[in-house]
Amino acid sequence: MKNDVFLKAEHIKKYYENSKAGKSGKKWVKALDDVTLDIHKGELVGVVGESGCGKSTLARCIMHLIPVTEGQILFDGENITDYSPAKMAPVRRKMQMVFQNPYSSFNPKKSIWASLTEVGRFYGMSQKEIEARIAKLLEYVNLEESMIRRRPNELSGGQLQRLAIVRALIISPDFLMADEPVSALDVSVQAQILNILMDLKEKENMTMMFISHELTVVEHISDYVVVMYLGTIVERGNVKDIFYEPKHPYTKALLASKPREDPSDPKKRVLLKGEIPNALNVPEGCRFWPRCPEYKKGVCDAERPLEEKVKDGHFVTCHLWQDKGGGKET
Ligand code: SF4
Repeated sequence: MKNDVFLKAEHIKKYYENSKAGKSGKKWVKALDDVTLDIHKGELVGVVGESGCGKSTLARCIMHLIPVTEGQILFDGENITDYSPAKMAPVRRKMQMVFQNPYSSFNPKKSIWASLTEVGRFYGMSQKEIEARIAKLLEYVNLEESMIRRRPNELSGGQLQRLAIVRALIISPDFLMADEPVSALDVSVQAQILNILMDLKEKENMTMMFISHELTVVEHISDYVVVMYLGTIVERGNVKDIFYEPKHPYTKALLASKPREDPSDPKKRVLLKGEIPNALNVPEGCRFWPRCPEYKKGVCDAERPLEEKVKDGHFVTCHLWQDKGGGKET
């Protein structure tokens, strides 16, 4: 088990006040409710879960874009939880983000070149350093220099996402947060972007967190995988643990929903009832119980399960994972 923790999120809660609480008395929307996570130096951690599970909120809390309600974020040994914008400035240089929509990373009125150099200058790089860095990164992302003379609307989504990666890496960050960076792109270019990110992680010796709702993508790119459900982590482990020895019924259900590589494969299905509940109406006990094929009355709905260690690095949050193997296949 590695001890070189680079980023630590400890007991993170992010609650939003419900302005329409009215008679329901439901005062808080619990977007994140006690999330703890370690990311080791040089690791690529994939975070997966359905929409509304809190993965993007977690990304924004870690990146200090929104304040946490409770808990703390330790980045490269510094507790940055309550840092002011001025105190965050030197930390920002070490952490960068790539977003789902690459058009949001650029000013539509400026050339890509102008946007890229602006970032470099803001962080104190000389013109010579900026030019050398852009040339190197363009080589990594396999784009010609002529591309950066264009404006965002003259480029395809795939080209622009590669340039958004260049923009994020121009100042050589230690940590890259990628929030659904391929989900807005054509399937044909998704693999190219994923391969670029994996290559860059090695070449630049970066630590990364990669968020996606697609399990196949996360399996392809990650060293370590975190499965989220309704504001909590339900299982985490290395790729083999999660994809070949899952313990949580929700992880099993997600895996069963993956497209089959061989259509004739009579893959077993885990039946998952209903939709992910609203974060305003979080079920008592285990949050997953209304949809869980293994639900046991009086146990699952009585107490919130605690995270338990399956083995080094593999953790699951389920009352019954040992009794039933965590999920019935039908
Ligand atoms: Fe399912 Fe119960 Fe485990 Fe929750 S605690 S995942 S409801 S078996």
